[in-house]
Amino acid sequence: MYKSLVIKVGTNVLTRPDGRLDITNISQLVDQIAALKAAGINLVLVSSGAVGAGQELLKVTKGTEEVARRQVLSAVGQVRLMELYRQLFAGHKLLCAQVLTTKGDFQDDLHANNMLNCFRALLLDEVVPVVNENDVVAVTELMFTDNDELAGLVATMLGVDALVILSSVDGLFDGPPENESSQLIPFVRAGDDQVLKYVQAKKTSFGRGGMTTKLRIAHQTAAAGIPVLLGNGRKANILHELQQGQWSGTIVQADQAV
Ligand code: GLU
Repeated sequence: MYKSLVIKVGTNVLTRPDGRLDITNISQLVDQIAALKAAGINLVLVSSGAVGAGQELLKVTKGTEEVARRQVLSAVGQVRLMELYRQLFAGHKLLCAQVLTTKGDFQDDLHANNMLNCFRALLLDEVVPVVNENDVVAVTELMFTDNDELAGLVATMLGVDALVILSSVDGLFDGPPENESSQLIPFVRAGDDQVLKYVQAKKTSFGRGGMTTKLRIAHQTAAAGIPVLLGNGRKANILHELQQGQWSGTIVQADQAV
């Protein structure tokens, strides 16, 4: 069983189709995360959903330019998101902490080292770090492709046992996931480009990423020795199953040579 994990939860898992926060689903995920913590697993949560949460709270003035609109929504929404996480984790007698970061912070040795030290200290005190991109600062070329990329960098930096990426699909299929004849691919080897032919160009509604970036990040992370588990964050008990040593999604297997 894994002793340390980075768990990334995408916008489509955290919000309803109308864009509002899906408190029921967030709550059941926090319950499962708390159970993993109780089992002694060190974990970091990477959570999107700030922009979605902001949309629920504020109608940005018409005419505000798109970049500023996103900054405003994420700034307002991040507070809402953390307020919710704080309450839900408190229900399990756990503290959570907000970590906002940018791609540049991983490229700057001093910033990266400061971040790593903070993660270690938080984990030592059994706090659950909740990481998101600093959407106020990171615009255009400074942005991560999406939070999958951010989660891959955090996982590699911490050298965790596995990276779990939860989205609204079960994993990688050998055809369109909505077709009954499509089969889930349970295992993919790190760097196996053959599977890219199965990736659907279209992405699910709200998130920035999609299966293409998920697989790219998964391959990179697996090549660094960390297996990546792709699964459906709307499936009840998906993390409980992981605790039992089962996984119903796709596992991108780590490169053992590393
Ligand atoms: N940082 C964005 C948010 O919290 C999400 C980025 C993504 O979709 O990966 O809303």
